[in-house]
Amino acid sequence: MHQSHMLIEGAIVPFVPGRIDTIYNPANQEPVAEVAVGTRQDAGLALQAARKAFPVWSGTPSSKRAEVLHEAARLVRERAEEIARLLTLEQGKPLKNAKMELLSSADVLDYYAEEGKRNFGEWISGAHSRSIVLRQPVGVCALITPWNYPVDLLAWKVAPALAAGCTFVAKPPSKAPLAATEFVRAVCDAGLPAGAANVVHGPGGEVGAKLVESPISRKIAFTGETATGKAIMASAATHIKRVSLELGGQSPFIVCADADLPAAAASAAQRAFSNMGQICISVNRIYVAEQVAEEFTEQLVRRAERFKIGDGLQPDVDLGPMFSREQREKTREHVADALGKGAELLSGGSEPEGEEYEKGYFFLPTVLGEADHRMRVMREETFGPVAPIMRFKTLEEAMALANDSEYGLAAYVFTSNLKTALLAAEGLEAGGIGVNVNNVVDLQAPFGGWKESGLGRELGHWGLESYLETKHIRLGM
Ligand code: NAD
Repeated sequence: MHQSHMLIEGAIVPFVPGRIDTIYNPANQEPVAEVAVGTRQDAGLALQAARKAFPVWSGTPSSKRAEVLHEAARLVRERAEEIARLLTLEQGKPLKNAKMELLSSADVLDYYAEEGKRNFGEWISGAHSRSIVLRQPVGVCALITPWNYPVDLLAWKVAPALAAGCTFVAKPPSKAPLAATEFVRAVCDAGLPAGAANVVHGPGGEVGAKLVESPISRKIAFTGETATGKAIMASAATHIKRVSLELGGQSPFIVCADADLPAAAASAAQRAFSNMGQICISVNRIYVAEQVAEEFTEQLVRRAERFKIGDGLQPDVDLGPMFSREQREKTREHVADALGKGAELLSGGSEPEGEEYEKGYFFLPTVLGEADHRMRVMREETFGPVAPIMRFKTLEEAMALANDSEYGLAAYVFTSNLKTALLAAEGLEAGGIGVNVNNVVDLQAPFGGWKESGLGRELGHWGLESYLETKHIRLGM
């Protein structure tokens, strides 16, 4: 069985008896790995190692840092098959998607290898002075990540942190730490100084909390639930730490009467159901113009019923199991709540039938009609494969409904009218707006949330800036 160790100061930490957890495959509940369970003390040791390595790594020229990051990308690609398999075993997603996650993480390393070289200073001439503005690495960072994209979301932090000259301690999700740990190991193997990259495992409330509280960490980069983000922000306030928070979402998807309906239905289905809806920018609620509602709904249902569901290791599977029993229960509760309040079940709503599904946390892609804002599926983050549909009469009405949420991560609009597209894009309250596309992630563009969906931006040059402090040097002349 695979063993997942912590990495502190360039070394594998041996297992401690009594502090070993088992990771189970969500497709069949079989054990797949043993993982070390770290403590607050381990978190402290890892932070000290990162602090020790900081002068070495931050003092390394950015061109040399770029070489290490490119080598890390090469190693991640070389090991992608092997790590992707671990990712499928611990998280459930189909192997092809796990592999894509590894390859896109390698791309993130390559991107920031080059972006780090573009961290220039500025020069300002005054009447009796000259000012130089430097951007310097913020210091030791704590990188805390969730289980839905455990490698990608860590890469979004590891790569800019290292490119900026920071060192870090990563805390992968407790129940899906395997692939993330192997990803950091590949990065370490690329030639980082010992202690520049560390991994500690363990419960968020213990190990994660220590990483946030300790005065050694100067920046917390977190992706996870909004409630956890609030606790982290409050704790980080004690030392006025820099925080970037990528939190929950409840993304609206508006289909106008003039939209390309087959494209809209295909996009909605893919973004509502892929990764079993366990995506922060998943399509959570669909508002469709009443003239085209019937046709759009029919097409969406047809697409929902076309997905092949199964163990992610099987070839040609589109959707694996959900990550955990709790996630599936929450999804079931949200569907029951909607049906109890008058929603119509158009597809799915339960587990698939068949022996192969009995032991895993499988759930059918679910389409609900007649949804409204009294229902939890329209207000809360279900984080499951559910697409509720509500009809609208005017764009103003659709926009008001879309913005009636405490979340603001992503919003989508499908229309063939440029003016409608621009008005909707301007008016929607979210960090990323997809116009006739179902994805707002682009490595070169900023990603992050408005309102309770987060603070700060990842990716692009914005991602690098969040690991830099600004310094003004004033020279008297
Ligand atoms: P979570 O908040 O429960 O856990 C995330 C990480 O935080 C884990 O590593 C956990 O161990 C750690 N943690 C928990 N309590 C902590 C504490 N008190 N101090 C420090 N660390 C702590 O989230 P999850 O259930 O793993 O992930 C699902 C959530 O992540 C969803 O809400 C989803 O929307 C969100 N998410 C957001 C984005 C985004 O970019 N906005 C992307 C993916 C997932």
